[in-house]
Amino acid sequence: MADKVDCVVIGAGVVGLAVARALALRGRETMVLEAEGAIGTGTSSRNSEVIHAGIYYTPGSAKASLCVRGKHLLYSYCEARGVEHRRCGKLIVASDPEQVQALQKIEATARANGVTDLRWLTAAETKAMEPALSCVTALLSRSTGIVDSHGFMLALQGDFEDAGGTVAFRSPVRGGHRGRDGIILEAGSDEITELEAQVVVNSAGLQAQALARRIEGVAQETIPPSTYAKGNYYVLQGKAPFRHLVYPVPEPGGLGVHLTLDLAGQARFGPDVEWVEKLDYTVDPARAERFYRAIRRYWPGLPDGSLHPGYAGIRPKLAGPGAAAADFLIQGPQAHGVRGLVNLYGIESPGLTAALAIAEYVADAVPR
Ligand SMILES: Cc1cc2nc3c(=O)[nH]c(=O)nc-3n(C[C@H](O)[C@H](O)[C@H](O)COP(=O)(O)OP(=O)(O)OC[C@H]3O[C@@H](n4cnc5c(N)ncnc54)[C@H](O)[C@@H]3O)c2cc1C
Repeated sequence: MADKVDCVVIGAGVVGLAVARALALRGRETMVLEAEGAIGTGTSSRNSEVIHAGIYYTPGSAKASLCVRGKHLLYSYCEARGVEHRRCGKLIVASDPEQVQALQKIEATARANGVTDLRWLTAAETKAMEPALSCVTALLSRSTGIVDSHGFMLALQGDFEDAGGTVAFRSPVRGGHRGRDGIILEAGSDEITELEAQVVVNSAGLQAQALARRIEGVAQETIPPSTYAKGNYYVLQGKAPFRHLVYPVPEPGGLGVHLTLDLAGQARFGPDVEWVEKLDYTVDPARAERFYRAIRRYWPGLPDGSLHPGYAGIRPKLAGPGAAAADFLIQGPQAHGVRGLVNLYGIESPGLTAALAIAEYVADAVPR
């Protein structure tokens, strides 16, 4: 006989942990099943750690609303729980006059998303703020910041466990089938155990589609295609002469090779966009040339030999190269047909920023 629990969240990334915390804080008996031996070993530790303002996303989309709401929740949460973060602001720069129109479009989209704190800067004003930067004009986003993503996840895990929740590591979920009172999940590596839950949240990130295919009753045509867009990062040797994050005009598939800073002031550049078939996180040193070229459009003084391969993350995309960017896809029983199941697909950027808002949304949506 399967053990029973009220709710199971599959995946201990930032989104799974945030959802589990929200459920536990609402008094639901909740367990997280995580395939690996620690929290946040997937995309949640392979990103830019930027608290996005909500500037780029299609107005009315889940990405737009959950990013803006998530940003407010995240800043408040970091302040309340002592998670390291900094509201450092970011500059989005036009490197030549042809890019100014793109910045105007970004500003209009931001405004439609309720982000009204963007400020236009002339080249001289930008130079006064960031002497090393070269551009014809820039937009300053004051509500963009950076966060210690691991500290954030540890705080979520702490809240979850304090509220009575449990994280079971090394517990890959193999699949699921219908039980009398809920969904019976089969989990484990060597020995398979069964666990029956009334609510199951599939927050398996890059594996969400593969897992959904193994849950009996999920209408297969509702499972979106999954495409991987790797983002490589290079780290800068030495100190970067910047106080703000610096972003170029976005490129198809990503936000462009930008400069982010970690909380210790270390600069990294990325992520680029490399469409891949497999989950391989190695950074090819041969990509360096492209990085020098992209960065020198806004930082001409980038010294030769100063970039070193850093790390890579992989975006769980729902749309491939050339297609319009897809939205987050949060599917409940009405869409896929399995009572009690929520599938989270395509939780790419700004998923870190939006995590607390996604959690709120999912916890409100699941049956009591
Ligand atoms: C290059 C890059 C840069 C980004 N930059 C930013 C940024 O600056 N700001 C921002 O807001 N967002 C950013 N993001 C997006 C953000 O990182 C993700 O949206 C977020 O981390 C997704 O979290 P998650 O919990 O959904 O997925 P993950 O962190 O991938 O977690 C999924 C978890 O599920 C587990 N799992 C998988 N299959 C199973 C199974 N069968 N059984 C049990 N466990 C399983 C995995 O081991 C993993 O721990 C970026 C993403 C990328 C790729």
